[in-house]
Amino acid sequence: MNEILVAGHKSPDTDSIGSAIACAYLYTETGRAAKAVRAGEINKETRFALRSFGLTEPPLCTEFAAGQQVVLVDHNERKQSIDGVRDADVVALIDHHRLGDFETEKPIFISVEPVGCTATILFRMFERAQVHIPQEIAGMMLSAIISDTLLFRSPTCTERDKLAVKALAKLAGVDYEEYGMNMLKAGADVSDIPVEQWVQTDKKEFMAGEQTFSVAQLSVMDTAPILARRDELHRLMEADRSAHGYLASFLMVTDILQEETELLFVGDIDAWVARAFATEPRDGSVHLPGVMSRKKQIVPPLLGAV
Ligand code: MN
Ligand code: MN
Repeated sequence: MNEILVAGHKSPDTDSIGSAIACAYLYTETGRAAKAVRAGEINKETRFALRSFGLTEPPLCTEFAAGQQVVLVDHNERKQSIDGVRDADVVALIDHHRLGDFETEKPIFISVEPVGCTATILFRMFERAQVHIPQEIAGMMLSAIISDTLLFRSPTCTERDKLAVKALAKLAGVDYEEYGMNMLKAGADVSDIPVEQWVQTDKKEFMAGEQTFSVAQLSVMDTAPILARRDELHRLMEADRSAHGYLASFLMVTDILQEETELLFVGDIDAWVARAFATEPRDGSVHLPGVMSRKKQIVPPLLGAV
């Protein structure tokens, strides 16, 4: 029988890669051969994590074959999945996002929980299955949780995420605070990335009624060099918006240390943004103190104010 493919979302982040690797391992150990794949290029933070724990990148998968058995991790909206997911045989969903347009033809295994990271859900699945987590898998799982919760700073972080990291750090043999800060720093260094890619970082598409909008997020230690190029970023975002026919494009420029976000946007949407965040936007941006989470603090107010 063919292997099950375990896949995270497009523009993969450390959770989409780390949880795919961990989930494939758990499935294989419990008797169902599975293999992690990636839905796109690996980012710098994830590369740092893979290298730290001696793992190689999962193979790229750009389209599922019809009937391919698939486990989806860290996403459920079709637009975020590898192409062909509609005709694939999705056998399980393990996620921590709102349910979007997810539907299946038959009952499947679903574990969707309101925790900070997919890897936190998987940590409990390993416990339940009584499967020992090897060092490198533990390392990727804790990297995923640290990434999604920005080392426990994000409002999406729960007590379970923290407990999982502490347990995984023992298995991985790392000081999670020191390692986590180094990993976030590796991911936050955008100095050698072309500005065209800044606006694509971790970009996700969402539906507002019949229309689509996109929200990208750049998490950095210092936003000044990014915001100094605001005009250029707006131009690139507008080009991307019109190329895809989006209603609007957003770019969260998130300061990990100050715990705040400058939300840049393009599209004729000042009134929408003002309603969503109760702040008058200026020059295609709003300053949002305390905002770090797209999932909890950006997308819900936008959808609520459409
Ligand atoms: Mn993710
Ligand atoms: Mn995640």
